[in-house]
Amino acid sequence: MRTQKSFEQQETGSLYLVPTPIGNLDDMTFRAVKILEQVDCIASEDTRNTQKLLNHFDIKTPQISYHEHNTHERTPQLIGRMLKGESIAQVSDAGMPSISDPGVDLVKAAVEAGLPVVPLPGPNAALTALIASGLAPQPFYFYGFLPRKKKELVESLEELNRREETLIFYESPHRIKQVVEQMLTVFGTDRQLVLAREVTKRFEEFIRGTTEEVLDWLEETQVRGEFVLIAEGNSKVQEDEPALWEAISPKAHVEALMEQQGMASKKAIKEVAKLRNLPKRDVYAAYHDIDQQEEDKR
Ligand code: SAM
Repeated sequence: MRTQKSFEQQETGSLYLVPTPIGNLDDMTFRAVKILEQVDCIASEDTRNTQKLLNHFDIKTPQISYHEHNTHERTPQLIGRMLKGESIAQVSDAGMPSISDPGVDLVKAAVEAGLPVVPLPGPNAALTALIASGLAPQPFYFYGFLPRKKKELVESLEELNRREETLIFYESPHRIKQVVEQMLTVFGTDRQLVLAREVTKRFEEFIRGTTEEVLDWLEETQVRGEFVLIAEGNSKVQEDEPALWEAISPKAHVEALMEQQGMASKKAIKEVAKLRNLPKRDVYAAYHDIDQQEEDKR
């Protein structure tokens, strides 16, 4: 176990994770600008792209490229620099580093090396779209990009169809119709979907409707821009699929929770009562082999 005190004086440098705008430069925070100015180097997914951002805010810090094809060689180099005292900010092309973007390898290596990893809050397409979607904001399941191959896409959607959480996807404009078509097949016609298009940009729009309605929109529209696709969770999961515990007695259910999840009997009884919608005393009696009617007579 190790504890990180992000802002304690130390000999090494720190790794700052800096989110950048997803379309509107005004979404850059004061702190993000300050950190990009202060660090020794910025590790960018695409240095040319980030240079535009740096020019806009008159930031002179040098950059080094850090993308999916050079993480292997770059990660140890950057870790070495931070161990010697340099601080580095990592940015992706847009939004939060590591979220369907490069970053995680550097973070893992920095954690491993005992370097402070300091995240900044800021733009992110998934959460920004979610809060305006009108669908349940929590619990949610962030998936990112679905597989490209049709067979894997269908398998993933079938798997996701068992989830009750709101589902969040990133998708390219070229594939979004194909994905929604498959969603219609797997999730059915009634599931509520939201397409959040060009969020924070001039042509931002939200298309809200059933799978069928959203597919109609995609078929009638020349699809352009960036999309977050949000799907309502499956509210029928519990009705459709019997829970595994339905095959066992309340007593066995309590014992299973104690054994498998290390719960104390009191907690397991409470949990079983809640899951099975039974009075707690009935579950208690079943667990302790007490004949409840005899008990009541006493
Ligand atoms: N790291 C980014 C983040 O934190 O949101 C995501 C990067 S991922 C490579 C790019 C995808 O995010 C796009 O294909 C799209 O699905 C989504 N996206 C990014 N910007 C968006 C925007 N302004 N509006 C809608 N979706 C956006």
